[in-house]
Amino acid sequence: MQLTGKILPIYMYGSKILTQVSFPVEKNDPELKQLIADMRATLANIPTGVGLAAPQVGVLKRVFLGEDNKVFINPIITTFGKETKMGEEGCLSIPRIYAPVRRSKKVTVTWRDQRWAEHSEEFEGTLLNEGTPDEKETLEAIVIQHELDHLDGILFTEKTGDVYKQRMRADLQKFLKREMPYTVNYPVVFQEGNGD
Ligand SMILES: [Zn+2]
Repeated sequence: MQLTGKILPIYMYGSKILTQVSFPVEKNDPELKQLIADMRATLANIPTGVGLAAPQVGVLKRVFLGEDNKVFINPIITTFGKETKMGEEGCLSIPRIYAPVRRSKKVTVTWRDQRWAEHSEEFEGTLLNEGTPDEKETLEAIVIQHELDHLDGILFTEKTGDVYKQRMRADLQKFLKREMPYTVNYPVVFQEGNGD
């Protein structure tokens, strides 16, 4: 039976959950199927979205959606390729802010799918060619590294260079004050009760 997914709001930068480490998913987690259905509905509602990690919808579980809605549960990158490349990244939790991040061009990932089958596969792909989008290039390896970082509470804004951190600072400060520097056409939320 296909579950109907709900569109969930995306937690914005400044929400504590985005800096927390997610917990491994347990086999037979009764909430897992609904969570995946909800994440798919949420991502399908955002045409610009490429991947989505569970903490971005307020759930601290090690699940993310990669390209083509592929579900990665308890993913581990077992090998980071030595060859790296800079690519401009963005994030649904930090809308309309972009900065280059250096990532491996290839990664080998082990993960579980929805039926709890284990997979291990090498993925390739870089993001952009020196700031120019290349539609033909797959993003898969980058998406996986970006989304897996979310499961460890790491955002791309921490992985870019100092110049870019400086450039983003004013906008990021607005997020921290719960002010959206930009409007977006999907539901968003700032985590309540994050007083520290
Ligand atoms: Zn992100």
